[in-house]
Parts: sequence; C-alpha cells; structure tokens
Amino acid sequence: MKHFDYICIGGGSGGIASANRASRYGKKAAIIEAKDIGGTCVNVGCVPKKAMWFGAQVAEAIHKYSPDYGFDVTVNSFSWEKLVESRSAYIDRIHQSYDRVLGNNGVTLIKGFAKFIDNKTIDVDGEIYTADHITIATGGRPIKPPIPGADLGINSDEFFDLASQPKRVVVVGAGYIGVELAGVMHSLGSETHLLVRREKPLRNFDDMLSDTLVEIMAEDGPKLHPHTEVTSIEKQDDGSLKVNLNTGWHIDCDALVWAIGREPANDKIDIQNTNVELDQRGYIKVDKFQNTTADGIYAVGDNIGKVDLTPVAVKAGRLLSERLFNFKTDAHMDYDLIPTVVFSHPAIGTMGLTEKEAIEKYGAGNIKVYNSSFAAMYTAVTSHRQATKMKLVCAGNDEKVVGLHGIGFGMDEILQGFGVAIKMGATKADFDACVAIHPTSGEEFVTLT
Ligand code: FAD
Ligand code: NDP
Repeated sequence: MKHFDYICIGGGSGGIASANRASRYGKKAAIIEAKDIGGTCVNVGCVPKKAMWFGAQVAEAIHKYSPDYGFDVTVNSFSWEKLVESRSAYIDRIHQSYDRVLGNNGVTLIKGFAKFIDNKTIDVDGEIYTADHITIATGGRPIKPPIPGADLGINSDEFFDLASQPKRVVVVGAGYIGVELAGVMHSLGSETHLLVRREKPLRNFDDMLSDTLVEIMAEDGPKLHPHTEVTSIEKQDDGSLKVNLNTGWHIDCDALVWAIGREPANDKIDIQNTNVELDQRGYIKVDKFQNTTADGIYAVGDNIGKVDLTPVAVKAGRLLSERLFNFKTDAHMDYDLIPTVVFSHPAIGTMGLTEKEAIEKYGAGNIKVYNSSFAAMYTAVTSHRQATKMKLVCAGNDEKVVGLHGIGFGMDEILQGFGVAIKMGATKADFDACVAIHPTSGEEFVTLT
C-alpha cells in the first residue's frame, strides 16, 4: 500500500493541473491515468481537432483565396495520412512534455484504472493507494443513440483513429463537435452532411451566430439537414453505410460520426464505496469549492456537468489545490462569464448572455444591442467574400457589456482580450475609449455605433 498527500484520478486537463499545483506546495502528489496522459483534450479533443482545423484552413487558403492573391497553385494531392502523422507526432511531443513536467515536479504517474475501495483508498489493478485528499477528474465520453446499427457509426474518439479520409461523411449532432468536425471534413474535400434534429445547429447560442453560420454553410459548407434524425444504419455490400432517416430518405456514406453529446465517466469507479453522491444524470455533485459530499474527495472537469472546456477544468483544478495546499481558503472557480470559441468555418467567439437571455434577465427596455456586419478583409479582396458579424449586448444606463458575440475570420483569436475587459466589468464607454487597431476585424468591437 502506498500513501500520498494528494491523488488525482484522471490525467486529463483537470487532474494534471491540480496535481502539478499541489506539488508546487511540497505535497506528495500522484495521478492515476488509465489511458494516455493528457486526457480528452490532448488525445481526442482540442488538440487533434485544432490540428485538423488548421489543415482545413490551409485547404481553404489554397482553393478559395490563393488565386485572387495572385498564386497559380496546382495541388497534386491531399494526404490525410500525412496530416494524421503530423498531428500524432505533435501529440507525442506533448506527451513527452507532460512526462518531463510531472517528473520535474515530483508527481507520480500511476498507470491503470482506479476504483474506490473507500473514501481514502483506491485500487488500481490490484495495487492499493491511499491519500489524504482525492480529486476525481475522470472526464466524460461520447455517446451513441440506441438505434439499430448505431455502432456502425463512429464517435469523436474513433474519428481521430480514421486512417484514411472518408469521401462521404455524415455527421450527426448540433453542438460544438458536430459543427467543428463537419466543417473540417467539408473543407478537406469530403462530401459532408450535417444532420441536426431541430431547426439549426448551435441553437442555444445567440441567434445571430447560429443564423449566420447556417447562411455561410448554405453558400459553402457541409450540407445541412435540419429536422433530420437517423432511424437506423445498415452496412452495404460495398462496405459503405446506408443511413436511414426519419424523413423517409436515406444517405449513402463511407463514415457516420455521432456528435450528439457526452456522458460523465463516473459509473465504473465503484463510487458506491464512497460517500460521493451523483445527480440524476450521473454527474458528481459538488459545491462551489469543488467539494463532493464525501469529506476529502473533490471533483473537477467534465464529470461535474457544469462547463465542459479544458481551461475550466484546468482553472478549477489549480484553484482547488491553492485552497487545499496554499491556505487560500476562499479560492474557487467562477463559472460565470467564460469566453468560448467554436472552431467552425469561420470561427465563432462568444461570451456572456445572448440577446434573448439579456432581455429575459434585464428587460428589453434596459438592453442596448450593437451590431456590425461586413466582409472580412482577408476575403474582401477575393471573389469568395465571407461574412463577419459581431454583436455587443449592453445592459443598464451605464451600458455594461454583458454579452459579446462574433462569427468571422480571426474571431477565435479576437475574443480572449475582450474576455479580460468583460470579466473586469467593462462598459460600452470603456470599449469606445480603446483606440482601434486598423485594419483588423477586432477593431469593430471598439467602434460600434
Ligand atoms: P479529461 O480530459 O477527459 O480527462 C479524464 C481522464 O481520466 C482521461 O484521460 C481518462 O482516461 C481518465 N480516467 C477516467 N476514469 C479513470 C479511472 N477510473 N482511472 C484512471 N483514469 C481514468 N475544450 C476546449 O476548451 N477547447 C476545445 O477546442 C475543445 N475541443 C474538444 C473537441 C472534442 C472532440 C472533445 C471531445 C472535447 C473538446 N473540448 C474542448 C473539451 C475538453 O476536451 C474537455 O472539457 C476537457 O478535456 C475536460 O478535462 P477533464 O480533466 O475533466 O477530463
Ligand atoms: P453538445 O452537448 O455541445 O452538443 C450535442 C448536441 O447534439 C445537443 O446539444 C443536441 O442539440 C444534439 N443531440 C443530442 N442528442 C441527440 C440525438 N439523440 N440525436 C441528434 N442530435 C442530438 O455536445 P458535443 O458532443 O458537441 O460537445 C460536448 C462538449 O465538449 C461541448 O458542450 C463543449 O463544452 C465541449 N467542446 C468544446 C469545444 C470547443 O471549445 N471548441 C469543441 C468540442 C467540444 P439539439 O438539442 O439542438 O438537437
């Protein structure tokens, strides 16, 4: 039996961040990881997705924009295999970097699957570990629906295993992953269908964002099928898939990707041996300090059902260690006003309240909305104009900025700085007081009238 001051179950975004921070304060910390270090983000999430998105950007630059910039480019071929190889090599380097940092910090990496024996004791494939403090950072996993042939489709984890490029792809789902993967596949040249069961993708985002995305998709993007659900999937003699739809139609494709949401990975860790309570959906119940209902057990990241983003898991994990091991007794994660980007084509950046939410919260008379719409200059000098749209939602007499939304070229990089201002409570007048940087897209946010 080995004893640690602190054990994190799960070597993903939250677990790594929290264990490293604990080690900074001299604590003997360990991470238990069943798969690859780095978790979802590094291995089957943000990192490989963004690599594919950059590949898609290169494809768009070559095919759509380079001719009007004067380049006469002949593309002999696109090698999916090469892109995957480059992506994997990058991820290998991240693994090495994690191993190095954990080693330097004296954090022990235990490989294996953790199960609770009791509140203080964990079994990892027969080895027993105890700790004064334990954080559950087990993340989540993608789901498939209970329909005939569902397993013929792949989930987002399996998408990153694809060794060759499917020529015809169906992506099912209306959230971040559906939009991102459909956009990537379309830009890389696959015939791509995005199936959403309601009227549009990202329907909980500000309408300006989702409506503009739908308009851009109609011009150049994956073929969007609203109000469409898969009823069954069949494998055909030539190896392709027949995707049967509720509309009575079917689509033939080479791969179907399920992107219909994720579930928490809390069900296989013998949590019943602890006093940790789950909610009805299987997420761990935590208070604002990430305390579970069991003394000395905490939870951070995707398994608590709050905001499933890497920087959220990282921040919550670090703040928890600051509180537990650095006497910052009030340190806790603020889940309000979190900036986020959807790596769509073009990117969406969003923070705070949608216009609808602001009206509900403050009343229509207390809201002022500023809009801007233009063609991104990068595309304006070409024949492939692409819309950029931006919106500021302001509340009260002082016009405090309570929502910022944008879709367009560069929006992924624009948002972060404005996030700082909004988090500090900036008003429209504060935005206006900042001199614009010209010519950029971001300058629109400080010149809105
Ligand atoms: P994870 O990173 O999932 O880590 C949990 C770890 O725990 C895993 O490695 C798992 O193997 C391990 N584990 C589970 N159970 C056990 C056990 N019993 N014993 C040992 N180990 C165990 N977020 C962003 O901010 N930006 C993005 O661009 C972005 N893109 C994404 C794209 C995709 C396709 C997906 C799926 C997600 C994306 N996310 C993105 C979300 C982000 O990946 C997650 O929010 C983040 O990884 C959550 O971190 P975590 O620590 O909670 O869990
Ligand atoms: P989401 O929960 O974001 O979206 C899934 C959507 O699929 C639902 O909102 C729902 O939309 C639709 N859906 C649900 N069930 C079904 C069904 N049975 N059939 C058809 N459609 C269905 O999940 P994702 O898997 O896309 O992403 C998980 C989380 O990971 C995200 O919420 C985000 O926090 C994080 N992430 C972040 C990224 C980033 O930061 N760029 C990128 C990728 C993921 P509707 O109700 O409208 O039909």
